[in-house]
Amino acid sequence: MESREQLAALFEELALLMELEGENPFKIRAIQNAARALQATPMPLADFVALPPSGFGKGLIGKIEEYLRTGALDELEQLRERLPPEFLDVMRVPGLGPKKARLLRETLQIESLEALEKACRDDRLLAIKGFGAKSQASILAGIDQLKRFAGSFRRDVAEAALRIMLDHLQPLFPATPFVVAGSMRRGREIVRDLDLLVASDLPAPIMKAFVGQPGVVRVLAEGETKSSILFKSGIQADLRVVSPDCFGAALCYFTGSKEHNTRLRGLAQDKGLRLNEYGVFKEEKSPPMATEEEVYAALGLPFIPPELREDLGEIEWAAAGELPQLLEVSGIRGAVHCHTTSSDGTTDVLTMARAARDLGWRWLGIADHSRSSVYAHGMPIERVHQQWREIDEANRVLAADGFRVLKGVECDILSDGSLDYPPDLLAGFDFVIVSIHSSNRLTADEMTARIERALECPFADILGHLTGRLLLEREPFQLHMERVLSACRRHRTILEINASPWRLDVDWRVIRAHRGSGLQYSIGPDAHSPEGLACLRFGVDVARKGALGPKDVLNTGSAEEFLARIRDRRTR
Ligand code: CA
Ligand code: CA
Ligand code: ZN
Repeated sequence: MESREQLAALFEELALLMELEGENPFKIRAIQNAARALQATPMPLADFVALPPSGFGKGLIGKIEEYLRTGALDELEQLRERLPPEFLDVMRVPGLGPKKARLLRETLQIESLEALEKACRDDRLLAIKGFGAKSQASILAGIDQLKRFAGSFRRDVAEAALRIMLDHLQPLFPATPFVVAGSMRRGREIVRDLDLLVASDLPAPIMKAFVGQPGVVRVLAEGETKSSILFKSGIQADLRVVSPDCFGAALCYFTGSKEHNTRLRGLAQDKGLRLNEYGVFKEEKSPPMATEEEVYAALGLPFIPPELREDLGEIEWAAAGELPQLLEVSGIRGAVHCHTTSSDGTTDVLTMARAARDLGWRWLGIADHSRSSVYAHGMPIERVHQQWREIDEANRVLAADGFRVLKGVECDILSDGSLDYPPDLLAGFDFVIVSIHSSNRLTADEMTARIERALECPFADILGHLTGRLLLEREPFQLHMERVLSACRRHRTILEINASPWRLDVDWRVIRAHRGSGLQYSIGPDAHSPEGLACLRFGVDVARKGALGPKDVLNTGSAEEFLARIRDRRTR
């Protein structure tokens, strides 16, 4: 199935391989730009051909036509044949990139991660111009990181792969839903593989379509009822086809977690039953278990939402009839934390607000970067006043819709714990998010003291992306969690659940462990574009895993309720 996303991915790969071959940088740039344009422009591929946007020359249009005709790009196929596939890993080592990887291949014949690691250990990089002991050590550290994260994917990446797969498979079997199980269904922030389940008594054609879909580089296992495939992206997908009679038991089993399932099996044993992926057995017989509700009912429990299934108290809650009512995406009425062209966002206030309105929200809080975030074009003070006028104007335009835009800022916590703007300016914002974007390599003592000092400012309303982690890329800051959380309670600071799929910070484990301890949350999209607002759903996943309900987050109330909560904490 041809799609814009798939062609964009092919263009990205093509640009990369061209770089490795040392081809014309202008040509490479044009292809990279085309990949971005394809991702950002929701219009059918045929329209790109009919009405090419600027920057789409003859050559590019020819490639789109070729792709529409053949589903592939000949130039890319040829480049793929010329380069060993393991070589792509070399380029993914942090700090290497195509140019240096090419140099290493030409001078030391390095074509795989193992070869690179060995060359570093043997000090062979030192002989090459542009490499020193320091870069050699950082390459080794980068290889380490790659190995550690190999086979792990951020939730948004796994979700995109899942969508492409379902868009292809589901229309072929419209009457038999493909259901996702595993960690993806449990709302995990990192996913290792995609687990799919189908209820059918006719598995053969389904299996055939599954292993034959586009993008598969290797079929790892192919059986009558179970197959595993590996996509070019490195993500693995497993499909099991089970009889409709035991679908509920299978879904429960393959959703996990392992720990949750172990507890369930224990409960079954206590009742003289045996639970497995086929049913809940008394002696040799199980009644049909077509749904998970039936499985839980057989164990004397109500249905437990998948996000909670981590054996972190949910079985006790279920047994006591105290399962929490979880937050739903449909309950979201507004959110704060997005960027515009006043700092590093892609568009203006009004466009962001309209995108939020189109998601069904009633209010949106803008929070551009403060002046010290130079890399992100943080706002000098004059720019703040200019943005306030822009927001007033947007509110006039949107008043008829009853939509409200709030004035906020993502204000840097400087290295000594002071804030980046003076208090009299901060007082003029409807809300202030304070976050750390610099000097993050402090000791836990230093970092904790820095945050504690920042939270003492009466205008530090919301603490943004608590630990600064970037999933699969950057470790969280060192800090004393309990002390930071008690400072939040003391000052009634709201904790942001940053919904960017790179961050998902505060971690749901922390949220869950501190449930009922008087913390309140704001799920922040941290969007830099209108599309980014929809990432809020990842933050909702985190809240659900943290066992939070509608009352635990400020996103479910009106703008007025949000503002009242801010005023209330400031006047204490
Ligand atoms: Ca899995
Ligand atoms: Ca699996
Ligand atoms: Zn930030």
